[in-house]
Amino acid sequence: MSGKYKEITSTANPVIKQIRALALKKNRDLNQTFMAEGLKLVSDAVEKGWDVKTLIFGKSLDGEKELKQRVDALAAKVLVKGGDILEVSNKVLSTITKRDNPQMVVGVIRQKWLPNDQVKPGRNGFWIALDRVRDPGNLGTIIRTADAVGADGVLLIGQVTDAFAIEAVRATMGSIFHIPLAHMELAQFLQWKQNWPGIVVGTHLNGAVDHRAIDYQNKPVMLLMGNEQQGLPDELAEICDHLALIAMDGAADSLNLAIATGVMAFEIRRHALKLDGAHD
Ligand code: SAM
Repeated sequence: MSGKYKEITSTANPVIKQIRALALKKNRDLNQTFMAEGLKLVSDAVEKGWDVKTLIFGKSLDGEKELKQRVDALAAKVLVKGGDILEVSNKVLSTITKRDNPQMVVGVIRQKWLPNDQVKPGRNGFWIALDRVRDPGNLGTIIRTADAVGADGVLLIGQVTDAFAIEAVRATMGSIFHIPLAHMELAQFLQWKQNWPGIVVGTHLNGAVDHRAIDYQNKPVMLLMGNEQQGLPDELAEICDHLALIAMDGAADSLNLAIATGVMAFEIRRHALKLDGAHD
């Protein structure tokens, strides 16, 4: 026993019950916190200045010296910022993460949203907007892709799946801590668009333009992607400067939303930066 941290071995402990309750969106909304699993993710959160309220790790790490040292170093940073550290049994970790083979490190982290007036062109003049995205895996994958392509942020429009759901956070592979997230209702977005200094490029199966034929250079780009089932509604399609189609072959009638976002995002950045894969 290290004695350095608070130990919990009972799954009925009230603190553990509170953490488990974060599996439900209503509790995440209420506490404005969420759960991230794994040493890398929680370390990313700390490095990027996110507020880690509680760091939880498995007692069985005691046997893994190098890993335990890294967890101790992380715990020191969390403690300095006023967070709690819990050393728990594997059974407790399993109940928290709902996994038989849980990650040995879990963080409870304060949610962060970018205020709407900060949704403006940043370093790369490129945002990705998602209309009513439903699937947490798609959302997490898109946040990861946005990070990889160098987007300034991801804007969620209307009723969307929770970006801080455990499945979404997992799919981001840590990018949730690098990419600003904002949320607007449809009416707010339509209003906001009037002051966007660049172009809005929507994607649509009835798109009029081949996605490679659009000029994405010299102006900030807001890429707008439609809902998985319904695509872009007319109100959104109408305000787009271009409606792009990714030409398809074969029998599929559409691409998966996250894949379509990836195809568009890298095409936009290729034009804007003339990215050719070469590095100095
Ligand atoms: N049934 C939906 C429809 O009719 O639009 C399919 C939606 S698709 C699964 C989800 C989103 O991915 C679309 O709204 C669009 O933004 C994008 N998308 C998928 N395939 C596309 C393509 N070939 N060209 C342009 N956008 C595409």
